Amino acid sequence: MHLDASEHDESKSPDGTPWWELSIQPGTQKKRFGQERRLAAWLWFKKNVGETFTMRELRAALGPDIAETSEHLNRRLRELRKCDWVIPSQRDDATLARDEYRLEAKGGRLWIDSERAKYERFAPSDRIRRFVMDRDGSRCKVCGAGVDEEYPGEPGKKVRLTIGHLVPQERLRSRDARDDMDNWRVECSRCNETVRDEVPDPERYDEVMAGLKRLTRDEAGQLLNWMRKGERPRSKVDQAYDRARKLPQADRTALLEHLAKRIGEAS
Ligand SMILES: [Zn+2]
Repeated sequence: MHLDASEHDESKSPDGTPWWELSIQPGTQKKRFGQERRLAAWLWFKKNVGETFTMRELRAALGPDIAETSEHLNRRLRELRKCDWVIPSQRDDATLARDEYRLEAKGGRLWIDSERAKYERFAPSDRIRRFVMDRDGSRCKVCGAGVDEEYPGEPGKKVRLTIGHLVPQERLRSRDARDDMDNWRVECSRCNETVRDEVPDPERYDEVMAGLKRLTRDEAGQLLNWMRKGERPRSKVDQAYDRARKLPQADRTALLEHLAKRIGEAS
């Protein structure tokens, strides 16, 4: 059938590129067109509900400018769940092959600005974001990692911070809830993952236990508290260190001398 030129093909952006192949946001010079948007568009137009797809198929469809790893794309896929997409993987359904996903329900059409806005409604305001960052000392409340630090034992993996909510997003139904400072805390991007137990290499009970044996009773008590709260507060020493290392060089030298004297070290 001939498609009338005036008839708009919804799978294509204004310049005629399919939404999932778009790397730059239409109407902008270099603003990247987000991967969630591309994933959503491809799934919406190319897959029927009930169909399966693989990571390999997805990468091929999105084209060569997707340089990210499968792990990264996997995370973008999981983020679609926040926008009502239901996409089980092998973790959720053992009948699926490794690297295979099934489209169970289509969600928000994120490549359309107005649709996308619906899902962003409950993001914290800039004012809240700044307040919470300052209040929490620009550190992840869950694991204690600070901005631009490296994760322990993982050289080169820089910590990125974000603002997470304690009451899940779906239950925030008013602006008041969105602006309630107590409902927000600083989290690193890793602790902020939608499904927190979906890490590539989960820890094993016996290995964790082996590490626990070396803890003193006090340390075990501290760990118990952190586990119960799901937060790792920074101790007074931690906080002092955070601030002290931001001192100018001369002040740092003076502080070192003061501390050495204070603990009775001979100079
Ligand atoms: Zn963290």
